[in-house]
Amino acid sequence: MDRVYNFSAGPATLPEEVLQRAREEMLDWHGSGMSVMEMSHRSKWFEEIIKQAEADLRELMNIPSNYKVLFLQGGAWTQFAMVPLNLMKKGKADYVNSGYWSKKAIGEARKFGKVNVVASSEDANFSYIPELYPETFSKDADYFYITTNNTIYGTRYTKLPDTGNVPLVADMSSNILSEVYDVTKFGLIFAGAQKNMGPAGVVVVIVREDLIAEVNPEVPTMLQYKVHAENNSLFNTPPCYSIYVCGLVFQWLKKLGGVPEMQKINEEKAKILYDFIDNSNMFKGTAKKEDRSLMNVTFITGNKDLDAKFVKEAEEHGLVNLKGHRSVGGMRASIYNAMPVEGVKKLVEFMKEFEARNKIEV
Ligand SMILES: *Cc1c(COP(=O)(O)O)cnc(C)c1O
Repeated sequence: MDRVYNFSAGPATLPEEVLQRAREEMLDWHGSGMSVMEMSHRSKWFEEIIKQAEADLRELMNIPSNYKVLFLQGGAWTQFAMVPLNLMKKGKADYVNSGYWSKKAIGEARKFGKVNVVASSEDANFSYIPELYPETFSKDADYFYITTNNTIYGTRYTKLPDTGNVPLVADMSSNILSEVYDVTKFGLIFAGAQKNMGPAGVVVVIVREDLIAEVNPEVPTMLQYKVHAENNSLFNTPPCYSIYVCGLVFQWLKKLGGVPEMQKINEEKAKILYDFIDNSNMFKGTAKKEDRSLMNVTFITGNKDLDAKFVKEAEEHGLVNLKGHRSVGGMRASIYNAMPVEGVKKLVEFMKEFEARNKIEV
């Protein structure tokens, strides 16, 4: 069996060790005589699985006890609505427009209250993280919203805004667990699993308890954080199998040395790729250097036909899903936690070889 190096932005590559373990446990989970897919979510076995997953995530991210950890459904998209539905008490929030996903979140929040866009990088196709000036923040906002890593444009915040008493809300879908974050700096963090945690179908929400103590009773039951928190994410049938695989990923990450060690490896991987791009005559990075993502590396040749040729030939070499998002074009290598250093080295080797072979065309 030949596995490829999969640079997909999401659903994305998973650690091979995790897939092996899931395979071993597929037919009979720990002597239960059944697959996790077949278990009651009320069984003692599944309770053990979800409790362990939560405990491991708490340990990995150093999540304080006054924060709830929820495993929900509906992807990051549902969070675009759940955040305002639950946190917009006074009806006003600040948003930073740093890319496609923050723009979608802004559009959704506008259905529920007043949105103040404090800064935007749309003027340059979101190729940088806009500078933030605290004097432009709304003092009376219910929360302040950012997207810590912009999956499509390959940018990330290297420092967090100081929002004072206004809770900071973050969409961390594409860089949760990739670098060390201080959870106490946030009121709420959410992340779809399919980029850096596990299979699609589950979204993790980490939220400060006091922010969800009260909720407007008109909010649909399934969209109330409070309901899920009171029921330990078992209000209705959760995405059991996805939660189980996320749990395996958390264990893999703990064994590897946790988030600080993962961050070192991610920095090493990103450096290998960016260093090559910066010294190449053919490939150019599309994101502002200081704001570059550790997870999604975006680049172009400047020639659409050459880009297409590169993507096609890379695929023939077992380096797949390198085509950039349609709104940016070019290439994007998503090098999430599960992408081994070896995969990035193979990609750079191929880029070098491709550049040498196509010199005349540039
Ligand atoms: C992928 C992605 C989303 C969308 O996630 P869905 O689970 O498809 O709703 C939202 N935000 C960010 C930052 C993403 O990378």
